[in-house]
Amino acid sequence: MPVPLCQHCQERKGNRPRGLCTRCYRTLDIRVQYPTKKEWTRGRADETEAELDAMIEKWLRPENLPPWWADAVARQQEIDQPVEIRIVHDNRRR
Ligand SMILES: [Zn+2]
Repeated sequence: MPVPLCQHCQERKGNRPRGLCTRCYRTLDIRVQYPTKKEWTRGRADETEAELDAMIEKWLRPENLPPWWADAVARQQEIDQPVEIRIVHDNRRR
């Protein structure tokens, strides 16, 4: 795969992270304009807290509950942890 041109100057090869050339990458003012995908994901993770709560609330409506829900609620007593908390943890681990 050929190296695409620098996202910023479009003159040199963008062989540094964020699709920038070495010179643009070294310039902090330029570098901050091109966040990495990783940083985007991290930004989303904070937003997701509220989204996740809203999503769980939606799931917990009786018409949206999956078929296994009744079983899971029944088992909840045995494992001594609310089912919805386990779902939140599963999501965060991904
Ligand atoms: Zn450049």
